[in-house]
Amino acid sequence: MNAPTTLVLASTNAHKLAELTALLSAPDAGLTIAPPPWTLEVEETGESFAANALLKAKAGAASFGVACLADDSGLSVDALEGRPGIHSARYAETDAARIAKLLGELSGVPAARRGAAFVCAMAVAWPDGRAVVVEGRCEGRITEAPAGLGGFGYDPVFLVPEHGLTFGELPAAVKNTLSHRARAATLLCEALRQPARGQAFLK
Ligand code: IMP
Repeated sequence: MNAPTTLVLASTNAHKLAELTALLSAPDAGLTIAPPPWTLEVEETGESFAANALLKAKAGAASFGVACLADDSGLSVDALEGRPGIHSARYAETDAARIAKLLGELSGVPAARRGAAFVCAMAVAWPDGRAVVVEGRCEGRITEAPAGLGGFGYDPVFLVPEHGLTFGELPAAVKNTLSHRARAATLLCEALRQPARGQAFLK
């Protein structure tokens, strides 16, 4: 199977379109990411990042009749048995409230038990029912307090041990080389180029 040259994003989120375009349209990837022709409401009823990414990509492919791309991401915290996980966006109302709630839940948890990972699943689905899904992870630790003003979401409390800095402190260019989303993008390009080695071609 050849990599499709154009993938329609099954989301109207402009930030996502820009970010995924930057990650996936490198010359060697050979992909073009296009916005969807109309808004699609898809209920995220899956129980994993991969399941939700697949749901959205498949709904897009069925509705638009072209190859569609979707992603789903979030923060999985070891001491909280993986929460907030697939509910990361809905964990609280605002980024500040989400961070405050997370630090509250981890209050008294020592540094050694504050491991966490950002996870990003990316899926591509075709109108004939084929689909592929990959998952990128970035391991780190939740800090005791926010640090840095960069990024978004949980970035100010996610410490990258190799750098000793949070995603909120690291330059975006550095985050973009090691983030869960960057890793998922690399895996997706590989899977589209070499489907036999892709993690899951599903029918
Ligand atoms: P979704 O992938 O749009 O469903 O949203 C995932 C949620 O996970 C976001 O709203 C953020 O709260 C969080 N999240 C995902 N990726 C990142 C990241 O790179 N930095 C900080 N928070 C993230």
